[in-house]
Amino acid sequence: MKKKTIFSLFLTFVLVLLPIVANAHPGRTDSDGGHYCRTNCAKWGLQDGEYHYHNGGKTKSTPAATAKPSVKPTAKPTTKPTVQPAPALALPKKQNAGTLQVYFFDVGQGDSTLIRTPKNQYILIDGGNNNQGKNVVKYLNALGVKTLDAMVATHPDADHIGGLDDVLKAVDVKAVYAPKVSHTTETYKDFLTAVKNEGRTIKAVTKGVTIPLTGVEANFLAPINSYGDNLNDWSAVLKVIYKNKSFLFTGDAELQSENDMLADGLNLKADVLKVGHHGSNSSTSKAFLDAVKPQYAVISVGKNNYGHPDSGILARLKNANATVLRTDQKGTITAISDGTKITFTSTKGASK
Ligand SMILES: [Zn+2]
Ligand SMILES: [Zn+2]
Repeated sequence: MKKKTIFSLFLTFVLVLLPIVANAHPGRTDSDGGHYCRTNCAKWGLQDGEYHYHNGGKTKSTPAATAKPSVKPTAKPTTKPTVQPAPALALPKKQNAGTLQVYFFDVGQGDSTLIRTPKNQYILIDGGNNNQGKNVVKYLNALGVKTLDAMVATHPDADHIGGLDDVLKAVDVKAVYAPKVSHTTETYKDFLTAVKNEGRTIKAVTKGVTIPLTGVEANFLAPINSYGDNLNDWSAVLKVIYKNKSFLFTGDAELQSENDMLADGLNLKADVLKVGHHGSNSSTSKAFLDAVKPQYAVISVGKNNYGHPDSGILARLKNANATVLRTDQKGTITAISDGTKITFTSTKGASK
């Protein structure tokens, strides 16, 4: 760029944009180029909370004359978005005691699953994203959970551990399990701080570690090896068995971890599979699926830009005769097992 052009751009900024910025009230411009008025709205001829644009919603400058504070910002959107109250959270119904219950919470794109044993012991696997922590606490409150016998943080990705600090602050947590891999994000640090504040140290998860429970087996099958910076493959994989029925929770474990579990000769057979990595094609290989042979496949997934769940994986599950249940379609999905059969209910759509 020529010096002259840079100078004239600078001049435009000082003469035109600066007065606009100086007179504008604070607020972040959203992706549509506008925002909601928060302060000094009357001065701008706006209602409190009214959606509007500064500078016509464009980055192009407007003549300085229009930048007077008395001038009402122009080019309001043709359809003014009204601020809608958030829809009420659909809470799962607490099932009768005496069965093994698994609540696949609807946390949008992410994972959070609660296991309740017939003897009323509770295990929470993951807590969804940061902004889902409050919802997970609401789900736990709705189910009357005051104490978690175990919390499992499958791996340090935000869509799994983000909400766990809220859970740690809200309920009593007796033990925390996580693989021996760390992350530098604030979200992960918040999780570690919350664990410390709860007076707990993390129990390292590897294949062979078990969660002590009464009448129910809970064994970790992975991680088997070290996976460098592939956090997904570090996922703690938990198999839960009650009498003749079993569940496999794979976190975001990908092909490498799946192959290691297969090579290790572990008994992967499970009636219900929590499908790895939100149905991404980086998980659920044909060989792994053949070994698990699930009757039901639960996918914890929300609105996302990753293409989850992958259409090829959905086809693979269908070919394997697994009934697919998705949290983005059914809300929170509850599996109820008496040890010989499993039934399902959900907060949205018809129950299975
Ligand atoms: Zn994930
Ligand atoms: Zn992940």
